Amino acid sequence: MTRQKLADEFVKIMEETYPDAVCSLECENPLQLLISVQLAAQCTDARVNIVTKTLFPKYPDVYAFAAANQAELEQDIKPTGFYHNKAKNIIGCCRRLIEVYGGKVPDTMEDLLSLPGVGRKTANLILGDVFHKGGMVIDTHAKRILKRVGLTKETDPTKVEFDVEPLIPREKQSEFCHRLVLFGRDTCDARRPRCELCPASKICKNVGN
Ligand code: SF4
Repeated sequence: MTRQKLADEFVKIMEETYPDAVCSLECENPLQLLISVQLAAQCTDARVNIVTKTLFPKYPDVYAFAAANQAELEQDIKPTGFYHNKAKNIIGCCRRLIEVYGGKVPDTMEDLLSLPGVGRKTANLILGDVFHKGGMVIDTHAKRILKRVGLTKETDPTKVEFDVEPLIPREKQSEFCHRLVLFGRDTCDARRPRCELCPASKICKNVGN
């Protein structure tokens, strides 16, 4: 089977298995998504959602975050871990959004990467979910699963992204990556993949981590 055929089959299986895949971070606008994704680094989406339930009413817009007291913001986001750097980046990010982008979240990879705390994973998620431009979000689940299935031999997230991106239709990329998160949680687990129950077992090359 060619890599393209493998990708097509795997995308189809993921669509059939998780028809309603959406981002599990609870957000009402692009800024909230940008901040939630930053908080989600090394933290579960469920915990981020608990924190943002009180965080977003307290800081209702980009100006409120830009003017935040860093020590206070650190306490507000403490349960998500790495709170010192996260608070610093969120304030810096919002200040730059105001200074350079009129308070709006920009819609290109280059501009997004210029924001403090924003890497390719976050930028691709914003490009896909907010601006519907596609984008491969290579988080820990995507990296592990794409390698196991046999769609890449790479392990560096950026290399995985560039390797696999051309195989997935642009309009399907965001949802495909959201599906990989669900699949990684309930079937293709990091330590104990449930291959015997897996809907992709017929095509999977079962390549180790
Ligand atoms: S067969 Fe096993 S390793 Fe392959 S995708 Fe399914 S759960 Fe993961």
